[in-house]
Amino acid sequence: MIISANLKTNHTRESVRKYADELCKFETKHEIRIYPPQTALFKLKSPKNIKFGAQNFYPVKNGSFTGEIGQEQLDEFDIKSVLIGHSERRHVLNENDELITKKFEFAKSQNWEITYCIGEPKSVRQKGNKAVLEYLEAQLKNIDLFYKNLIVAYEPVWAIGTGDVAKVDDVKEILDILRKKTSAPLLYGGSVKAENVKEIYELKNCDGVLVGTASWEVESFKKIIQQA
Ligand code: PEP
Repeated sequence: MIISANLKTNHTRESVRKYADELCKFETKHEIRIYPPQTALFKLKSPKNIKFGAQNFYPVKNGSFTGEIGQEQLDEFDIKSVLIGHSERRHVLNENDELITKKFEFAKSQNWEITYCIGEPKSVRQKGNKAVLEYLEAQLKNIDLFYKNLIVAYEPVWAIGTGDVAKVDDVKEILDILRKKTSAPLLYGGSVKAENVKEIYELKNCDGVLVGTASWEVESFKKIIQQA
């Protein structure tokens, strides 16, 4: 399984050090990704299956893009894994499809591992699975579903940070359809916690989870890993 922690705008460099130390002591065969805030990145000395990734980047080597970080800054910390298309970047920070596609192409040109997030808002979910699929198709249409370092995370917008997990049957249906389109590992994200993760792991086409809130405390994240 691939089990990823999106720390979002939480933690400092010092607390991420403690978090990472604790995880590195914890033996697991699963692939673990931690996405700390950019200011808390450092070169992680860890077992091979535990890696830091970047929550965000600007698709350039370097240059004049005030407030952004590019390839040179990620290289400093050996970061080779990135999140793209997260719902908070799309809907809160207004990242549009054009920028998302540019980020995808840039990350691909660097051979980085990309966790590409897709998901529908509540208004679309209320129209049923057909509408959801059309919405997801539009989010997938500009990206290379055959890219070798791709991971796709299905994260319904209304389930992120709300405590509302999608119905397992709905997740199953979406993952089964995604599986026909790509051989990339498929993750589910949206209010995952130790108490609800087991039935998600058990889905045939689920290759892991992307966890926000329940990953911020290392002990809580470890419990999610233990269920896998
Ligand atoms: C996320 O940020 O990708 C996420 C799934 O958050 P949460 O687990 O808090 O819903």
